[in-house]
Amino acid sequence: MDELKPMDAEQLREYGHQMVDFIADYYKNIESFPVRSQVQPGYLRELLPDSAPVRPESLQDVLDDIQSKILPGVTHWQSPEFFAYFPSNSSVAGFLGEMLSAGINMVGFSWITSPAATELEMIVLDWLAKALKLPDQFLSTGQGGGVIQGTASEAVLVVLLAARDQVLRRVGKDATGRLVVYCSDQTHSALQKACKIAGIYPENFRLLKTDSSTDYALSPESLSEAISRDIASGLIPFFFCATVGTTSSTAVDPLTELGKISNSNGLWFHIDAAYAGSACICPEFRHYIHGVEGANSFNMNAHKWFLTNFDCSALWVKDRSALVQSLSTNPEFLKNKASQDNKVVDYKDWQIPLGRRFSYVARRSLKLWMVLRLYGLENLQAYIRNHIELARKFEELVNLDSRFEVAAPRRFSLVCFRLVSARNDVEHANQLNRELLEAVNSTGNLFISHTVLSDKYVLRFAVGAPLTEERHVLEAWKTLQEKAALLLSELKESDANKVGWNLECEYLQYQVRGEVSVSNIHVMCRDERQCK
Ligand SMILES: *Cc1c(COP(=O)(O)O)cnc(C)c1O
Repeated sequence: MDELKPMDAEQLREYGHQMVDFIADYYKNIESFPVRSQVQPGYLRELLPDSAPVRPESLQDVLDDIQSKILPGVTHWQSPEFFAYFPSNSSVAGFLGEMLSAGINMVGFSWITSPAATELEMIVLDWLAKALKLPDQFLSTGQGGGVIQGTASEAVLVVLLAARDQVLRRVGKDATGRLVVYCSDQTHSALQKACKIAGIYPENFRLLKTDSSTDYALSPESLSEAISRDIASGLIPFFFCATVGTTSSTAVDPLTELGKISNSNGLWFHIDAAYAGSACICPEFRHYIHGVEGANSFNMNAHKWFLTNFDCSALWVKDRSALVQSLSTNPEFLKNKASQDNKVVDYKDWQIPLGRRFSYVARRSLKLWMVLRLYGLENLQAYIRNHIELARKFEELVNLDSRFEVAAPRRFSLVCFRLVSARNDVEHANQLNRELLEAVNSTGNLFISHTVLSDKYVLRFAVGAPLTEERHVLEAWKTLQEKAALLLSELKESDANKVGWNLECEYLQYQVRGEVSVSNIHVMCRDERQCK
């Protein structure tokens, strides 16, 4: 074929088919790749030229490079053996939606710039709000409505800005230094970042402590005590964020009680259900967001566990005017009759991107719409239930093996677990689990991640990739068991070796803390008489 033109329908047809074939083959062979990329930092610079080509190259050459040079440096989030972090779903419907968005490439910042983009977004978010049984105040037919943000981090930032400006209009701009934000120590760090951006003083950011006695959920007492203390010292509490399904262990904050405290003190109450929100389309899991009636805003990520390709984070607010008052700008070059007559929603006033990222504004709705239509709520519910059932099976396997323990209650599709140490020593157990994590991830058979709960290093097994079936969970567990057995037997050997060792030796302490390997100790330790 001839050189590629910027816009040629027939070339798009041919090249598009070729690209779809490439992606379909990738999915077909995805299990042949190590799940976590095994390359070393800087690997790619050695493989690619120093500067861009002057003459055009062929698509085939590029695809060959993707196969041989790029894919080895990819961690395969769509692999059925991907159990790390939280899932980041891709799906055929989501992919088709993305493709269509890229094709039409409409830019819907104001209603007039693509009426369908804005109106579709409102409708699709009303659909999803109804599927989640959110209160009517979150629907666009009243004072509220939904908007699609890029990420949960952007969602919490825009509502924080809206809440900040709302309170500052009341108490005066000079009060910024007295504004206080509350959340639990399990809250995603996105809120802390949002506070930095919004100019909240770092000393007025309250990370309230949680522990295993409440399964890492925030206790209402600790919120009300903190608020009272701050009011007594002349500060202005104005924002509280609760989480349904925390990132570490999927803890669920008690929304109803926390909401009452938040409301009665005049705080903006935001609920972050980035991951677990998806599960709440199932009637049997809807109770996890019971209490959402009291919230000012609610957020869930369709791009995590809802078959919608990244990015697509759904945010609903009860009072859209608060967002608009905070985020709207009205430069001359964007003025138009529909907006000025106040007949339409201009989503540019509901979010951060202004200018550079216009191309993304109000166009993610296409893929969410396609996901909802091409799968239907029934299949989406079955999809969620299947993952939760697979996680329950994994939890059962962990419980059956006395070398392991479940480290926090499982609610959705995440299992927190760890290898138990025979020695009664937290640091030693942590080191053991760190080594197990690295050992299994280095096999390439599966990819899991970790967290720390009450100073304990805990492994996280999150089911949620669309291709994951029971056999993948069983395979993953087998690898985990094998690597655990290996580690425990090495440990026995090294315990035996240590008989002649001086346990005061500082290098041995390094090893126990995991800072050097056993073999290096012998090299590092100069006083051999003492140490072996
Ligand atoms: C993943 C996650 C986030 C961050 O989501 P982004 O869309 O990547 O910003 C926030 N909160 C919770 C509870 C999460 O699990």
